[in-house]
Amino acid sequence: MKCPACNRQKGIKEVTPMAWVYECPRCGAIFNDRPHLYLGESYEYVLPYWAKEDVPVEQLRYYDFTCLASGNKIVRRHGWYDPETKLIHQTG
Ligand SMILES: [Zn+2]
Repeated sequence: MKCPACNRQKGIKEVTPMAWVYECPRCGAIFNDRPHLYLGESYEYVLPYWAKEDVPVEQLRYYDFTCLASGNKIVRRHGWYDPETKLIHQTG
């Protein structure tokens, strides 16, 4: 288990065990390591909407989800979001 943003391996904790969603203790990135997270469930962490206003860059956290979408499609969502609003600030 390794953080996709900063490569930290120690102290990665599960946020949601059933969905294998983890949070990095160093940089606050959230991510999953298996596609057991439904696309709709990933919206509980990061909304499918763009932020309209800028926030200080220190406030942003990395996210990286590999999700199951309808039709058994695998969809990856990743980028930077604001944990306070759950809105997307940057993708990729
Ligand atoms: Zn990290």
